[in-house]
Amino acid sequence: MEPAIKVTVRRDTRSVPVGPTGIGGEFPITVQSMTTEYTYEIDKTVKQINDLADAGCELVRVTVPTPKDTAALKEILAQSPIPVIADVHFQYKRALAAIEAGVPKIRLNPGNINDRKQVEEVIAACKANGVAIRVGVNEGSIVERKDLNLRAHEKEENLLKLMMEKLDEYINIFHDNNFDNLVLAAKCTDAARCIILNRMISQEYNYPLHLGVTHSGTVETGAIRSAAAIGTLLAEGIGDTVRISLAGDPVKEVETAWEILNSLYLRPRTKPELIACPTCGRVEVDLFEMVDEVKAAVAEIDYPVKIAVMGCIVNGPGEAEGSDVGISAGKSKVMIYRDGQVVETVPTEQGVECMLKHVKEFIADDKARKAKEESELVEAN
Ligand code: SF4
Repeated sequence: MEPAIKVTVRRDTRSVPVGPTGIGGEFPITVQSMTTEYTYEIDKTVKQINDLADAGCELVRVTVPTPKDTAALKEILAQSPIPVIADVHFQYKRALAAIEAGVPKIRLNPGNINDRKQVEEVIAACKANGVAIRVGVNEGSIVERKDLNLRAHEKEENLLKLMMEKLDEYINIFHDNNFDNLVLAAKCTDAARCIILNRMISQEYNYPLHLGVTHSGTVETGAIRSAAAIGTLLAEGIGDTVRISLAGDPVKEVETAWEILNSLYLRPRTKPELIACPTCGRVEVDLFEMVDEVKAAVAEIDYPVKIAVMGCIVNGPGEAEGSDVGISAGKSKVMIYRDGQVVETVPTEQGVECMLKHVKEFIADDKARKAKEESELVEAN
């Protein structure tokens, strides 16, 4: 479906298959996350993957630092509803075991595997099994950055140069081995640096890009930093898969990623969109409680309906009118809007319940309208 607003033209990249889906090319910008459980604890890991998938995660990464972790992969893959990517560091044998278990993609940092022959062994195994590789540079893993004993602006420039050189060096290993099933990533903790670096990479390579601000912080600050960096790049057409990295429940990462993609009209909404006023001295109800109540009540709805919860009659009606279903709350009464019209005025304590009734009716009417339009289109053709 064409988006209502087009903010950008997405950069053309190679298409990298990852199980039944893929990254770049014709694939939509995918949302990914990473589990926080010990991978060898199969039940806990699968439960977390299911929670992430329910929230809209489309690709999930699990870490495999020990043989116990790769031994668990077969069972995790069998139970996971979404493709599982193995995150490999230091031990090339973990990569080989993960490929043997059947993962469709691995994350590999050649910089932390000492022997090039070992990297080439992994590349050969990926090639033989159709496994994709995400290769990238993380600011923290560039050991030479400590040698940049320069003035601040020179240091910045040189760090970016150093990261690009490292990425070029890694990519050359893959090119030397005729391997191009690659996704690239360059992650920094600094949002602005992340933007500049990914712009540089997108000019040099047409491999799909995995976007992320690494170790971006708590749920609140991390989401803001990620939105600043990832949102900027996506609005420029750069980026093919997104991982928000937060110090918290990874489900929040998925929710944040979707909000960024939905806000830029890069992926259509599949869940309700909730608009609420911040309140001010005019508010006469406990609006935040009302918003929480509405949010909890619509959490399970899988339909894109725009809902406004407004605290008074000043801006309230305007916003409520612009939504599919809205509520404009007064001290003793609330007005309920549907499709821009006041449909009911009820006592405040009945407001949320009444509004939810209208949300359900709106969804049923909207589905019926779309079905009718589709059947008319089929008839016309
Ligand atoms: S809708 Fe009313 S209560 Fe809410 S911020 Fe605007 S003026 Fe204040």
